[in-house]
Amino acid sequence: MILNIKDLYHSYGEINAIKRLNFSIKQNSIISILGPSGCGKTTLIRLIAGLEEVQRGEISFDKEIVANVKFNTPPEERSISYVFQDFALFPHMTVKENISFAASSKKNKKQLIDQVIQLAKVEKFLNKYPHALSGGEQQRVALARSIAVQPRLLLLDEPFSDLDTNLKREIIDDTLHLINSLDSSAIVVTHNAEEAMFLSDEIIVMEKGTIVQTGKPHEIYFNPSNVYVASLFGEVNIFESKIQNSKCDTPLGTLETKNFKDNQLVSVVVRPEAIKLNVEKSPVTSPNSGVVVDSKFLGNNAIIHMTVKDSNNNKHHIHSKLIGDFLPDPASSVSYSLDYNHIFIFPR
Ligand code: ATP
Repeated sequence: MILNIKDLYHSYGEINAIKRLNFSIKQNSIISILGPSGCGKTTLIRLIAGLEEVQRGEISFDKEIVANVKFNTPPEERSISYVFQDFALFPHMTVKENISFAASSKKNKKQLIDQVIQLAKVEKFLNKYPHALSGGEQQRVALARSIAVQPRLLLLDEPFSDLDTNLKREIIDDTLHLINSLDSSAIVVTHNAEEAMFLSDEIIVMEKGTIVQTGKPHEIYFNPSNVYVASLFGEVNIFESKIQNSKCDTPLGTLETKNFKDNQLVSVVVRPEAIKLNVEKSPVTSPNSGVVVDSKFLGNNAIIHMTVKDSNNNKHHIHSKLIGDFLPDPASSVSYSLDYNHIFIFPR
């Protein structure tokens, strides 16, 4: 294990930002810390980097304790490098000087700088100063500088959040190759589940200072532990229901359930992609049918807003997501089938 976090806690006055966190990170792995604003991600990264003093708990690096209540190894002695959202390049140094400065204490300095420049694709603007670079270029230089110190662990705190979608994809892709080509590990902080899935071997989901789930991207996506985790991967339809004879009623029909007792109150999460639609020529009155309110084209998929009626004839607004350009007209009658891989039932 390259990093081990034991019973870590941190508060700012009365705000408990981190509450008894425990986790480990294997060598040569990329981990994402996923969660919304304010859940404690930055505090955790700052503690690992050594920028905050440990109040309770312990941080070990390569099996050696680097911080606990009694001592705090300074950031520069941790073989850790970080890129924060508001990364600061040295304004009076060119790109090349910024990178060279980071590599200055290394034996193989020249070779290392050349390698980093090539890997981070910053060759074209080596002699420019930071103020003359675009946001994306500055981001690349910040990444280059952070790997030029040859860290064992790279900490990236929302490093891509200011970039537009295409540039973001490109830089994320390059960063991934960069980390994989080095003998290091990385922790990426993000509130974007797609980014977390794309980048990491494992995702740690945080909520209000605690870890709510840890696992590989597909494990968390297909087996979320609660409504909160299921909702992180995009918008969802949520219904409240009650178990009766191992079934629960929802506006989308009666669903079979497992491992629930009768009368248990549950929340049913149905991802829009669980609802597969068919346009019907004439209005359908059978169950599993609805009426289209609007269809929104989103490029490689479409969101269909529709109304369905529950068993008491109450109307519900539902979102369905389909691949391609399936765009039924408003007021079309549709029937639907459900893909249970994208439906989750949790106790309330
Ligand atoms: P974001 O994505 O917005 O950066 P985050 O998940 O990284 O959020 P933190 O920045 O770690 O969350 O903040 C966790 C909690 O601690 C929040 O309630 C925040 O307001 C509070 N907090 C963070 N830093 C300080 C500080 N220096 N002083 C007081 N409270 C703070």
